[in-house]
This record gives sequence, structure tokens and C-alpha cells, in this order.
Amino acid sequence: MRALILSDIHANLEALNAVLAAAGKWDALWNLGDMVGYGASPNQVLDIIRPLATLTVRGNHDRVCCGLSSAVNFNPTARAAAKWTLAKLTPDNLEWLRALPQGPLETEAPTADSKAMRVTLVHGSPLNEDQYIHTMRDAWAPLQQSTAPLTFFGHTHVQGGFSQKQQDWLELRPRFAGRTDAESLVLPIPPGTRHLINPGAVGQPRDYDWRAAFAIYDSLAGEVVFHRVPYDLRRAQGRILMARLPERLAARLREGR
Ligand code: ZN
Repeated sequence: MRALILSDIHANLEALNAVLAAAGKWDALWNLGDMVGYGASPNQVLDIIRPLATLTVRGNHDRVCCGLSSAVNFNPTARAAAKWTLAKLTPDNLEWLRALPQGPLETEAPTADSKAMRVTLVHGSPLNEDQYIHTMRDAWAPLQQSTAPLTFFGHTHVQGGFSQKQQDWLELRPRFAGRTDAESLVLPIPPGTRHLINPGAVGQPRDYDWRAAFAIYDSLAGEVVFHRVPYDLRRAQGRILMARLPERLAARLREGR
């Protein structure tokens, strides 16, 4: 089974289209939330992702942009974007966002030894949907306590993750050559290890690489492949400026931070 894993699309239509074109064939799409907020194409993104996603967990921006949570914890830029998004969303998309489940969601995938791999999907952390997992210290408790050996998370917009096998633990950061075209890197998922994996952000990366990020989990091969793909950045930036969203939201896409 090939599962396409997307997180933090953030209303970036050009990035989403590039990712879907590059992803090839997949059997399931696991969507880790924050589909809207920041970018200028919330309805277009939802119209594409809603029929495609097999499982979707809500993100903090999804919650605020549909009026389910207040924006008090957002910085002024994020708050302005959330207010703009709330005014733009169609009634149907608003209703869909409001009904999204809170993580963790549990699923499973077939493996080569015909056992099923249990998989958890969350936006922030398995322990708290709004918690950021930036460091091994943040990852420690979720790695111990997660019911599944493999957890996919988003929220930080940083591709990579953490693994643990007994006393050995590692921070995983894909080291790409830094080209401007598409690149991918394979991470084996050996039996007996626990993993927290972030596919990276489709629509607003913050790991100093502007290219759209995603991952594919191949459960039979026992591996996760991290991908980066270029997209029409200028067009996405132009939409943000034309929508009169904060200019910073356009500038940061190029910086990848
Ligand atoms: Zn996000």
C-alpha cells in the first residue's frame, strides 16, 4: 500500500497541484490538517483535497479559519489571514471544516510479513493536537506513549522526524542536495522501531527549502520517501498580494521559513 501523506497545505493551490502531479499513484491519502490559513486559495484547495483525502485530521488553522476556535493565540499576520479566510470560505467548505475530527486518528497498512502496521495520524502531537514537536525532548513522551509504532504529524512545517529503538534514538532530517528541481530521499522503517514522521509542509515550508514537501509511505517496502518539488511560487505569491493578505505571507514562501 502506498499512502500519500500531506500536511499544512495552507491554501497554496500551486504547491498542492505540483505535489499531486509528482506523487504518482497512491492507494490512500492521509491529510494531517491546516489546509487553509495564510494562502490565498482556500476554496480551490478544499475543493481538490476533500474528494481525494481518505483520512483528514483537523489543524489549528482549520479550526480558527472556520470560527471553531478564537484567534487569540495567533500572531497578527496569522490572525489577519484567518479573518480573511473565514470571510472567503463557502458555506459548504465551512461546514466541512467544522466537522473535521480532532487527532489522533488510527489506521493500519499491510506489511510484507502480512502483519498490519498500525499508524497514528495527528496534526501536532498524539498527546495534544496543538503541541509542536520540534526537538527530541518534545518527541520523547509521544514516542513512548503512542499506541502505534508509526505516527505521522505536521504543524511545525519542518520535514523529518524522530525514531527510537530501545535506547537508540535519532533525529531525522532529510539532507537534500539543495537543487531547485524535484528530489527524494528514502527512510527505511525497520521492524521494532518507533517513528514520528513529519512529511513537511506542502504550502508553507519552514525548513529553509521553498519547495513543496510531502511523503509517501510504502508499507510493503517498509519505507517512507521524503519528497521536495518546485512549484509556481510567483503565482502563489501574486495571489496573496492581490488578495491584500499581509505581504510577509508572500515573502516567506520564497525564504522557506
Ligand atoms: Zn500549519
